[in-house]
This record gives sequence, C-alpha cells and structure tokens, in this order.
Amino acid sequence: MINLALKDVVKRFGSIEVINGVNLEINKGEFVVFVGPSGCGKSTLLRMIAGLEPISGGELIIDDAVMNNVPPSERGIAMVFQSYALYPHMSVYKNMAFGLETAGLPRKDIKVRVQKAADILQISHLLDRKPKALSGGQRQRVAIGRAIVREPSIFLFDEPLSNLDAELRVQTRVEIAKLHKEIGATMIYVTHDQVEAMTLADRIVVLRSGIIEQCGRPLDLYNKPANRFIAGFIGSPK
Ligand code: ADP
Ligand code: MG
Repeated sequence: MINLALKDVVKRFGSIEVINGVNLEINKGEFVVFVGPSGCGKSTLLRMIAGLEPISGGELIIDDAVMNNVPPSERGIAMVFQSYALYPHMSVYKNMAFGLETAGLPRKDIKVRVQKAADILQISHLLDRKPKALSGGQRQRVAIGRAIVREPSIFLFDEPLSNLDAELRVQTRVEIAKLHKEIGATMIYVTHDQVEAMTLADRIVVLRSGIIEQCGRPLDLYNKPANRFIAGFIGSPK
C-alpha cells in the first residue's frame, strides 16, 4: 500500500530551481534511504515532506490525500535532525513530553508514551537528567524518542548520526533498524554513509542536482549502478 507519493515535485528558491520534478512512491512500512552529494536537495525534499518548506510545484500525497497545504502537525510525520536541538533547561522526560503537552494530550497518556519510547531506546534511567548531563549518543536517542512519542506514521531522519563517533554510529544505526522492525512505520533516511544506506534501506534513492538519478534495492544498485556517479556512491568499485 502506498503511504507517500511525490508527483513532479519542484522546489524553487527565488528563481533557482533546486528540486526539478521528483516522482517517487513509498510503501507503508518501507525504509527508504536518500543519498547524493552535498547540495543535491536531500534536506529540501525532507523539509517539503514534513511541511517545513512550501512546495513550489507538483503534489505531495499521503494516504491518498494531497498534503501540499496541510500544516506540519497534521501530516502524521516526525522529523529527526542531525543537530539534536533539545531544550537545555528541560529534563529528558520533559523534552519528550513537551510537544504532546502542547498538543493537549492527557498527562497519563503522555507518561505511557514517554515510558514506552524510553524503553525502546533504553534511556529509561535518564528521564530526570538534563541534556548537558548526557553523551552525544544519549542525546540523539532523546531526539529520536521525541519523534517516537508522537506516534507518526512516517519518520524522517536527516543525517541523524553524522555528529556521532564511529562506534556510536554503528550502535545507533542498529537501534534504528530495530526501531523500524518494532514499530513498522515508514522511514525516510538521509545519509552520506554508504554502510548506513546499504544496511538500513529497503530501497535507496540516489539524488543528483535535484533529480532522482537511480532508485532500487541496495544490492541491485551495488551490483548494477547505472553509471559512474552512482557507482561512486554505492556501487562496487569498477
Ligand atoms: P542537501 O541536503 O542534499 O545537502 P539541500 O537540500 O540542503 O541539499 O540544498 C539543496 C540546494 O538548495 C542547495 O543548492 C542549497 O544551497 C539550496 N538551498 C537550500 N535551502 C535554501 C534556502 N533556504 N534558500 C536558498 N537556497 C537554499
Ligand atoms: Mg542536507
């Protein structure tokens, strides 16, 4: 079942077109990884899907409804950024609960959701701490927890691990794969790390200057890159 579709999606900043007509259908529960060089439009695409950036042309469709003008909070989407942007003066619990409180969810439901997310991420013992008392990896878990408690049907990750050291990156990558298995939500994940792309993705989308250059299952792209450019990102060296 198609969860999300981009139809001829275009983005212009002033007179400069940075997304030049992207077509993509993503199935419910699919894990799709976007790769491509810096500046090719990965973050812009995610931000348009999340509703943080208006779409200049084409359509964004979620579960058969056109979402172009739907506010971010009504799209059933949560985004995790590279910089964790936690509230420094709030506890871990409060950081995760805050958005739900603002949305008016009952206190006891918030508690259940935060505890469940904390269990999944193994940060239950950190709920009373402030962000400054956490390691980088723990902070990134809190940021992911903040997305989980919203129970979105679609998660967007924009290079979520790029601030972590190598060992933590591997650990957190495994956690994200586990999370995907456990909750079965649709995930769109931007990275420039080939190993992350190969291990996490059901399907890899390679972007280049605002268009989709190739799209397919990791091993298919790895074994049969359409050209040298793709090979440079995920293909086997020729
Ligand atoms: P990526 O995430 O793949 O590195 P981005 O989506 O951030 O790429 O950027 C795509 C292109 O759009 C780049 O050329 C960038 O300079 C441009 N761009 C991104 N945001 C803005 C903005 N707010 N105003 C003008 N140009 C922007
Ligand atoms: Mg980016």
